[in-house]
Order: sequence, then C-alpha cells, then structure tokens
Amino acid sequence: MSEADPVLTPKSGLRQRKPDWIRVKAPVSAGFMETKALMRRLGLATVCEEAACPNIGECWTKKHATVMILGDTCTRACAFCNVKTGMPRAIDPLEPEHVAIAAAELGLTHIVVTSVDRDDLPDGGASQFVRVIEALRRTTPSTSIEILTPDFRNKPQAAVETIIEARPDVYNHNLETVPRLYPTIRPGARYYASLRLLESVKRHDPSIFTKSGVMVGLGEQRLEVHQVMDDMRSADVDFLTMGQYLQPTPRHARVEAFVTPAAFAAYGSIARAKGFLLVAASPLTRSSYHAGDDFETMRVARAAKLSP
Ligand code: SF4
Repeated sequence: MSEADPVLTPKSGLRQRKPDWIRVKAPVSAGFMETKALMRRLGLATVCEEAACPNIGECWTKKHATVMILGDTCTRACAFCNVKTGMPRAIDPLEPEHVAIAAAELGLTHIVVTSVDRDDLPDGGASQFVRVIEALRRTTPSTSIEILTPDFRNKPQAAVETIIEARPDVYNHNLETVPRLYPTIRPGARYYASLRLLESVKRHDPSIFTKSGVMVGLGEQRLEVHQVMDDMRSADVDFLTMGQYLQPTPRHARVEAFVTPAAFAAYGSIARAKGFLLVAASPLTRSSYHAGDDFETMRVARAAKLSP
C-alpha cells in the first residue's frame, strides 16, 4: 500500500494489537465441538486449526471445515504459515475414505480439500488428491469439490494433469503475495510457476473454475497488487480472494499494515472492473471462507455471462 492508503501501521517493537474489524468470537458452539470431534475421530487434519484461522468459530459452527490431506507436516517453511515443517510421514491410504466419510457426516454440499507441500513425493502428492476426489464422487456424488493445491514445482506436468482429469469443480492455488515479496514470504515457491499452474488448469479444462488468493498487509504496494490481479486475469482466473495477513506467532513474518475495510472495498471494485467472475475482498476473507455459497454465485455468474 502507498502512504496515502488508509491503513493502520503497527508500531515497530510493540505487540501487534489487532484493530476492531479483525476481532472474532471465541469458538464455543455445539456445532463447533461436533465438527472437532468428527475430525479427531477420523484422524483428519484441517487447515482451519493448523493455520489458526480467525473464522473457525463461524465456519465450524456451520460444519464447514477445510480438510488438509497428505498429513500435517509440510516440506516447506513459508514465513506466513503456521503449519509445522519437517519430514512428513508416509501417506495414509485410508485418508481418501475418511475425507469422504467426513463430507457425508457433515452433510456438506461443497467441500474444500487442501494439503501440505510434499516436495518429498515424486508426484508432489497429486495422486492422493485424485484418490480423494474419487472417494468423494463415490460417497457423496452431489457434493461439489474444491481443491486448494500446492504449486507442484519441479514435479512432472503429468501429475497436475491427473488432478485436472479427475475434474474437481474448483481448482484453487493461491499466489499469496506480490512477486517482490516471494524471496522472504514464500521462498520455496516461484511466482511465475504458480501463475503457470493456474493457467494450465484453465487451458486443459476451461469448465473447471479457477481461483486464487492474496494476503495483504505484508508490505506490498497497491500498484503491485493491481499487477497481480492483471496477471491472474491473463491466466484466466475466475475468482479472486483477498484477506488480511495475520501473524500466527512472533516467529512468523510481521504484519506491516492492517488494511482497512474501505481499502478492501476499493481493491474489490478494481478487481471486479478487471473482469473476475467473482471477488471476495475483506479483512477476514480466507480462501475457503464461504466457499460453498461463492461456488453457487460463480456458477450463476458464468451462466449469465454465457447466455445470449
Ligand atoms: S475460513 Fe476456511 S480455513 Fe478458516 S475456518 Fe473457515 S473453512 Fe476453515
């Protein structure tokens, strides 16, 4: 953001106090406890917990959870992410069935499945995404499936193609931040490799909705964010999500700015003018926040666009 932008800049050295628009209710509902118990019973990890998502109270109360497959240990160490880093365990062969059981028991009309990075696997874990999609189609055929994948950097293109051929309804891969900040925020990734992944999904199967997100508040400039929007549109990305970065622990990248709701609204207007089918931009927007409702909105928007 430029100096003229409406942001709150946390003072250096002080504990980063969140502005009022970031505060969320503590997760205490019966629905929250039931969702938690089901995930434990099935041995499933969720990004809701691992990323310390501020929306967990709201989402789990409604029994919306984002399942994290391929274990709970990531082979990368991004500066913004709270997921544990190290050498992951072997793939759990029961995981696809457990994800399908969770979708059935939660009564999900839409499920979001993500994963840790698995640079240790020859296909980066692509085949497990395929098995999960197949298990969901068998068990809950009317549930729409959204996957939020790693970048599969240095993996064969064929690995990504197997996922595309399994035909998820939405393919999401987050660019996370502007290219200038990749060396510090996302050092194991490459901006243009991520962009190419999104572009290749659309090229292989234009019927799959593509989605990507950025966090703001990491020190990016407003015009850099506009450029990321243009890059996404050139890759024909349908849906943009934008939310405030929150520092999960003092060891992670600090918050450089709390972007105001008004500034999010301005970003949203500009993104819509650039031609995205759908834009979600607010301080608490996360990739999977309200994903089911947004999927329906996207379907309607595409139908309206294609109708004569
Ligand atoms: S926004 Fe996404 S990650 Fe956060 S609690 Fe909701 S479903 Fe989970």
